[in-house]
Amino acid sequence: MRLPIMTFWLAAAVAVSGCSRETPQTGDSAPEGSAAPVAAVVEHDPFSYAEPGKVRIDDLALELAMDFDAHTLSGSATYTLDWRDGEARQLVLDTRDLDIDKVTGERGDGKWQDLEFDLAAADSRLGSKLTIQAPDRNPRIRVSYTTSPGASGLQWLTPAMTQGGKQPFMFSQSQQIHARSWVPLQDTPQVRFTYTAHVTSPDDVMVLMSADNDPDASRDGDYRFEMPQAIPSYLLAIAAGDLVFEPISERSGVWAEPDMVKKAVAEFADTEKMIQVTEKLYGPYRWGRYDLLILPPSFPYGGMENPRLTFITPTAIVGDKSLVSLIAHELAHSWSGNLVTFATPKDQWLNEGITSYVENRIVEELYGKDFATMEAAIAQNDLRASLADMDPQAQALAIRPEVEVDADSTYTAVAYDKGAWFLMFLEQRFGREAFDAFLRQYFDDFAFQSVTTSTFADYAGEHLLGKHPGKVTEAELEQWLYEPGIPDSAPVSASTQFDRVDTLRQAWLDGEGLPAKDATDAWTTQEWLHFLDSMPPTLEQAQLAELDAAYGFTGTANGEIAMRWYPLAVRSGYTRANGEIAEFLEKIGRRKLIMPTYAELVKTPEGLALAEQVLEKARAGYHPITTASVERVIAVAKGEAGAPVAE
Ligand SMILES: [Zn+2]
Repeated sequence: MRLPIMTFWLAAAVAVSGCSRETPQTGDSAPEGSAAPVAAVVEHDPFSYAEPGKVRIDDLALELAMDFDAHTLSGSATYTLDWRDGEARQLVLDTRDLDIDKVTGERGDGKWQDLEFDLAAADSRLGSKLTIQAPDRNPRIRVSYTTSPGASGLQWLTPAMTQGGKQPFMFSQSQQIHARSWVPLQDTPQVRFTYTAHVTSPDDVMVLMSADNDPDASRDGDYRFEMPQAIPSYLLAIAAGDLVFEPISERSGVWAEPDMVKKAVAEFADTEKMIQVTEKLYGPYRWGRYDLLILPPSFPYGGMENPRLTFITPTAIVGDKSLVSLIAHELAHSWSGNLVTFATPKDQWLNEGITSYVENRIVEELYGKDFATMEAAIAQNDLRASLADMDPQAQALAIRPEVEVDADSTYTAVAYDKGAWFLMFLEQRFGREAFDAFLRQYFDDFAFQSVTTSTFADYAGEHLLGKHPGKVTEAELEQWLYEPGIPDSAPVSASTQFDRVDTLRQAWLDGEGLPAKDATDAWTTQEWLHFLDSMPPTLEQAQLAELDAAYGFTGTANGEIAMRWYPLAVRSGYTRANGEIAEFLEKIGRRKLIMPTYAELVKTPEGLALAEQVLEKARAGYHPITTASVERVIAVAKGEAGAPVAE
C-alpha cells in the first residue's frame, strides 16, 4: 500500500498472544528450476484468532449478491480445508460485524450437514471470533452470511459521489484486517488460498475482483472470477461501478469511470515499461494481467496492491506523470508483499520498505538517477520529520512483540522510508550487483510464503553478510532492524536539484525576492514539494500572500502540494485559505493527503471547530478508515481519548 501516514494514529493496544511456531504453507507456483523454498518459521499473528497450525483454508469459493440499496453483500463462503493437526475438530475464523445465518459441512459421502457454531462478542479491534464445531473434520465447510452496511472494509457510494454521477460505486479495502468484515476468513497473512467467486449485481454496474478480470466482459449483473494463485486474505478485493476498460499494453490496462479512463491511460502509459524493468531486475511477473482500477477520491490510500488489479487514487492523476512512482510502488508489491508476504502487520517494513526500495529502482531505470534521488531525498526528509515526535519504540523497523499497535497504524514513515533506506544501505555496502542478486533470490526462495523480520535477518546473514564478509557487521544489521533513529551508516541521498531549490528558498526568506520565473517554470512537482518541505514552521501573512500570488498554492489541484501548503497556512493563521482547505478536505479521502491538515487544525479552538464542521459535511463521502482517523485526531485534541501509545 502507498503511502505512510503520520505516527499520531499509532493507536492503542492489541493484546499479544503467546507464540506458536508453525511450518508455513509452501506456494505451488514457484518457477521451474528454482531452488526448493526455504522454510520460513512464522509466529502467532496477534491480529487474528485463526489457528493455521491446526487447519488451513486452501481454497475459498464465494457466492455473493451485491445490494446497493441495503449496502450489503450476502451469500456464502465455502472453504476447502487442509486439516493439519490430527486432534483438531474446530475451525476458528475472523469476522467483524457479520450476520451469520448458518454453517454447514460436507461429509465424506458428499452430503452437507448443519454444524454448530459460536459467534463471540465483538472485540473492538479484532472483531468477533467465529468458532465452528467440525467433529468429522469436514473437507469443506460453508458459512452463509450477510455483511453490515457499516462494514469497515467496504465503502458504498451513491451516484452523486462518483465522477460520472450515473451509477453507484462500491469497493473493498481489506488491508490490514478488514477482509473479515466482508468474508469470514482466517484473516492472517500466514494463510494463503486460491479463490473463485460468483457475484450478482444490478445489470448496469461492472464488477471486478483481484482475480482474472476479463477486459471484454459484458455488463449483465452476473460475474464469475477465478484466482489461481494463492493469496493472503488482505489481498482479497472487489469493486463495482460504472467502469470501462482501456488497454495500455497486451497485459496491462486501466479500469475507470468513462470520464476518467483516457486521462488515466495517458498518465500511466509507462506501466508496461515498468513491468519490463522490474522483471529484468527481480524475475518474471507471476500474476498474469496487471491492470489498474481508478477509484473515486474517497479512497483512503494512494494505492492498494490487489493482485492483477491495483486500486489507485485519482489524486495521482495530475496531468504531467509527476506522481507515477505510485504505480511503480504498487507494481513492486507484485514481488515484495504479494509474492513474499509479511507474517504479521508488525513486520510491515518487509512489505512496504522493500517495496519502496524497489519502487525507487524502477523510477531510476525509467526516469533517471536525478529523479530517483529527489524522490529518495523527499522520503528521507519526511522520515526525519516524523521521527522528531515519534516514540523511540515505534522507530525500529521490527516492532517488538511487547509493543502494542493498532493494525491500521503500522503505515509509518519508518516502515516505508526507513525500510527503503536500510536496503539502500545494504546496496551501497555490498554493491548493486551482489545486492540485486540477493534480492532476486530472496523473492524466489520465499515466493508464496510469509516471512518475519528474524527470517529476513537470518537469510541476509547467510546470503549477504556470510557470502561477502567484511562489508556489514551483525551489529549494524541489528541496529537497522531493532534500534530507534537513523543509523549513522545511512547513505544520504543528496540532490543537486534540491540544493538549487534550497538556495533560492533561502534567498527569498532573506528578502531577496522570489526565484526568477524561468527557474521555477522548469521545476518538477518534486522540486515544488522540496521548496515547501523546508520552509520555516510558520510564515508572515505577507509572505504567504506573495507565494499564493506567484504560484497559486491555495486551491492547487495537486494533493501533494496541498498536503504541505495547507498545514503551513493553518500554522501561520492564514485564514484566507480556509474556504479552499475545507473544500479540499471534503473532497479528498486519501488519509496521507488530508491528515496533516487536520492535525494542524485541531491545535486551536477555531481550527478545531472548522475540522469538526468539515468532518460532518465530509462524513457521508469518507471511507470508514478515514473517518476513524479523523475522529481520533479530533477526540485526542478534545481530551476525549488518550494519547496514542507511540506518539
Ligand atoms: Zn505499499
